[in-house]
Amino acid sequence: VKADPFVQLRLLDLQVLDSSLDRLAHRRRTLPELAEIERLDKLVDGSRDEVVRAETEVGDLAREARKFEDEIDTVRTRKTRDEQRLSSGAITNSKQLQELEHEVGSLNRRQAELEDRELEVMERAETVQTALDKLLADRDAALAERAVAEDKRDAGWAEIDAEVARVTAERAGLAGDLPADLVALYEKIRAEHGGSGAGPIERGRCGACRLDLMGNEKAEIRAAPAEEVLRHEECGRIMVRTAESGL
Ligand SMILES: [Zn+2]
Repeated sequence: VKADPFVQLRLLDLQVLDSSLDRLAHRRRTLPELAEIERLDKLVDGSRDEVVRAETEVGDLAREARKFEDEIDTVRTRKTRDEQRLSSGAITNSKQLQELEHEVGSLNRRQAELEDRELEVMERAETVQTALDKLLADRDAALAERAVAEDKRDAGWAEIDAEVARVTAERAGLAGDLPADLVALYEKIRAEHGGSGAGPIERGRCGACRLDLMGNEKAEIRAAPAEEVLRHEECGRIMVRTAESGL
C-alpha cells in the first residue's frame, strides 16, 4: 500500500478519533452508576425471599391468633352458660352443683391458658412485623437509591452518546477522504491489535508499541520512499513518519 505522506499523517488523526471512540465506549460500559445499580439490584433480589418469608409468617401468626380468639370465645360462652345455671338456682343437687363449679374452674384455667398462648403469638407477630417493616423500608430505600443512580447513568450516557455522535461524524468525514485501501489495511490491523492500527514514529521509537527502532530499521525507513506505507515488524502496526520521528 502506498499513500501520500500528508495522507499518512491524516491516518494518525483517524487513529486518534478511533481511540476516542474506544475510550468513550469503555466509559459507557464502566460508569460507576452501573456497578451501583447492580449492587442495589442484588440487594433487592436478596431481600425478596426474606420479605416473602416474613409476610407468610405474619399471615400464619394472625391466623393462629384468630384461632385462639375463637377457642377463647367458645370457652367464654360455655362458662357464661354454666355461671347462669349456677346462679339461676335451678340446680339443687349438690353433686351436680359441685360438678358445675368444678367445670367453671377448669374453664377459667383453660381461658387463662389460651389467653397466654394468644399473647405469645401476638408478641411473636409483632416481632416479625417489625422485621418485615424494616425489610420493606430497606428495600424502598434501595429502590430510591437505584432510581437516583439510574438518572445519573442516563445523564452520563446522554453526554457520552452526544460525544460519540460528534466524533463518529468527524471520523466518517475523515475516513471518506482517505484512500480506501489504506483505511482497509488500517482497519484490519486495528481489529487484530486491540484498537490500535497506526502510530507515529516518535524520537526513534514506534508510537504504537513504544519499542525503540533498531539502527538497521531506522536505516531502512530513511531509505524508503515517502509514499510507502511502513509497518513495524515487531508489532505489525502502520508506522507514520512525522517531523518528530528523529530518524
Ligand atoms: Zn510497534
